[in-house]
Amino acid sequence: MKEYRADLHIHSVLSPCASLDMSPDNIIKSATEKGIDIIGIADHNTTKQCGVIKQLGEENDVLVLCGAEVNTKEEVHCLAFFENDKLLNDFQIYLDQHLPVVKNKPELFGDQIWVDKYNNILGEEDRLLIIGLNQSIDQVANKVESLGGIFIPAHVDKSRFSVSSQLGFLAADLNVSAVEVSRLVDMEQFSEKHKWVNDYSIVANSDAHTPDQIGSVNTSLLLNEATFNEVKEALLGKNGRKIININLYS
Ligand SMILES: [Zn+2]
Ligand SMILES: [Zn+2]
Repeated sequence: MKEYRADLHIHSVLSPCASLDMSPDNIIKSATEKGIDIIGIADHNTTKQCGVIKQLGEENDVLVLCGAEVNTKEEVHCLAFFENDKLLNDFQIYLDQHLPVVKNKPELFGDQIWVDKYNNILGEEDRLLIIGLNQSIDQVANKVESLGGIFIPAHVDKSRFSVSSQLGFLAADLNVSAVEVSRLVDMEQFSEKHKWVNDYSIVANSDAHTPDQIGSVNTSLLLNEATFNEVKEALLGKNGRKIININLYS
């Protein structure tokens, strides 16, 4: 087994808040330059840009986990990833069903376009993607679980859109693969104040909105090979796969 570097929280051009430079080719180029082996594409409440990035990743030896950064009814951000196109599509249908219909105002919130690998625009999302679904964190976690996905409450230490800011703690019966901390976390202080976090494995990701941020924060995983299932096993500490370290300042 060997060490793989993972950054599982990257926004593409499709997120209204991300730079238009976050095109599939720029994302893969930046990951490769930074020595990141595994990336997660996590746009707000949508998975529609993942496929093209995954394809480019395959051509460049970067494993791309496809999913989304879901905003729940409680305004808690959670990362969700799926093993294949069928499961991803099932989750996209769920997102489409449960995203309230509020029209995006691009001049206010930013563009919501997705592109092919040559950066031709394939489509534009009319609905504002950054608002909360009409689904609770329990409902989202259960949906992800039913699709065999990876579920990671995002930036749990942040003062907005997080488990700690919105809920105070994570319910013990929730099916969680790991929890994510932000680059600003003081782990000692946070785990002292929020003891529930000690029950989970911890990952750190960049939450990149521009290409230069990709990999700036990452997590070292011990895997036999870079596959969806091995990443999931590492997060859960199964079959000798594990998280080696979180790298907050690389
Ligand atoms: Zn977030
Ligand atoms: Zn994010």
